[in-house]
Amino acid sequence: MSRACEVSQAGFDTDVMIVGGGMVGGVLARALAVDGWCVEVVEPRPAGQSASFDRRLTAVADAGWQYLDTLGLVDASMAAAAERIREVRVFDRGHFGLTRITARSAGVEALGYVMPNRALGDRLEALQQQPPEEPGQVTYRRPARYTHHDTDADGVTVTLLEGPDEERVTRRARLVVAADGAESAVREQADMTVRRREYEQVATVATAMPGRAHDGVAFECFTTGGPLAVLPAADGRVSLVWVARRGEAERLGELDDAAFAGAVDEAFGHRLGGFSAVSPRAQYPLSLVTADEPVDDRLVVLGNAAHALHPVAGQGFNLCLRDIRDLARVLRADRGAAVDPGDPERLARYRSLRMADYRRTIGLTDGLVRGFSLDLPGLGHLRGGTLSLFDGLLPLKNRLVRATRGIA
Ligand SMILES: Cc1cc2nc3c(=O)[nH]c(=O)nc-3n(C[C@H](O)[C@H](O)[C@H](O)COP(=O)(O)OP(=O)(O)OC[C@H]3O[C@@H](n4cnc5c(N)ncnc54)[C@H](O)[C@@H]3O)c2cc1C
Repeated sequence: MSRACEVSQAGFDTDVMIVGGGMVGGVLARALAVDGWCVEVVEPRPAGQSASFDRRLTAVADAGWQYLDTLGLVDASMAAAAERIREVRVFDRGHFGLTRITARSAGVEALGYVMPNRALGDRLEALQQQPPEEPGQVTYRRPARYTHHDTDADGVTVTLLEGPDEERVTRRARLVVAADGAESAVREQADMTVRRREYEQVATVATAMPGRAHDGVAFECFTTGGPLAVLPAADGRVSLVWVARRGEAERLGELDDAAFAGAVDEAFGHRLGGFSAVSPRAQYPLSLVTADEPVDDRLVVLGNAAHALHPVAGQGFNLCLRDIRDLARVLRADRGAAVDPGDPERLARYRSLRMADYRRTIGLTDGLVRGFSLDLPGLGHLRGGTLSLFDGLLPLKNRLVRATRGIA
């Protein structure tokens, strides 16, 4: 559904060109359209088929969920597809030590929500099919693939290969946002420095039915191979995210469903009375990819393109939602009739808003992976002790509660 959109400056096709229509590109497009911007999104995959909207479920912290709601993304079907997290329990398998965070002690209804990625994709797609109510507009260009961009003083010319015949198309925008994932072609074109660390671990992901009701409890269990998350999902199911070293993950991928369910139950210490009705499994090799800088000339790098994190503690998409919120806020501030969304001062403001959160969140995630993956004699007891101690240390625990709730 499309209507004419008034681009804020003559001679441009759109205010903002977002490269990548995954979870981050899709939500950012919505946020900017709500604020009145004309936005184009370039995505190589057909509607609903971005790799972002696969079978995974994502734990969205309370603050992120409220933000999605303000953007009109939590409708009745999204709410029905998601499950509340009432409690988080963290423990180290085989060792003493447990920390608990409850929604009640944090004074909220839920610490977060576990949402099927597909539900978000469906909601974004449904909004595209409706007549727009917000002042701005989102136009998806798909299938289309970004190839390169040229930046000048006023704007950016983006070249795409579009449609089944891969026709060469150029579009003029004032700001380009790279939301094209960890292997971002836009970031590479802009010659931006990235750091990579291979964790040599793979996440095996599935859903299953637990033997006992999950009661809205999200478990994070640290095993010697890597963390195992058992998250409450709708319809009484749980989402399993089991991180293991490469060879072990290969073995887990080859097990039949019953043997896989048994292995999860064993690693998890039989806390939910076993698992059945296991869904097909998917596997994701894990690495830490971070761009040194989130902005360049008329360019913002966002989502996995800026920081692809390990899934431990479910911080990746939550960090992305804070990026989106801050970028929308900076572009909205003092907005006159002809404001330039690619204005370097605005982008510098965005950068300064984001850097501390990047350092904290990336440091927390990477620290958890490294601290809990080592299997040295005595270290398990130390970790268990740390968790118990941590449970009694209110300021530290409050920091974890804030991270869990998605508050930077
Ligand atoms: C196993 C696992 C579990 C996770 N669980 C959680 C969780 O519970 N909580 C949480 O907060 N986070 C979680 N995350 C992190 C979360 O999945 C990411 O933060 C999120 O997927 C980032 O989305 P994105 O849109 O930036 O990137 P992507 O999902 O990689 O999407 C990139 C998009 O760009 C498109 N694209 C690629 N190349 C081009 C091109 N040349 N031109 C145009 N478009 C292009 C792709 O088709 C795709 O649609 C998890 C991650 C993993 C791996």
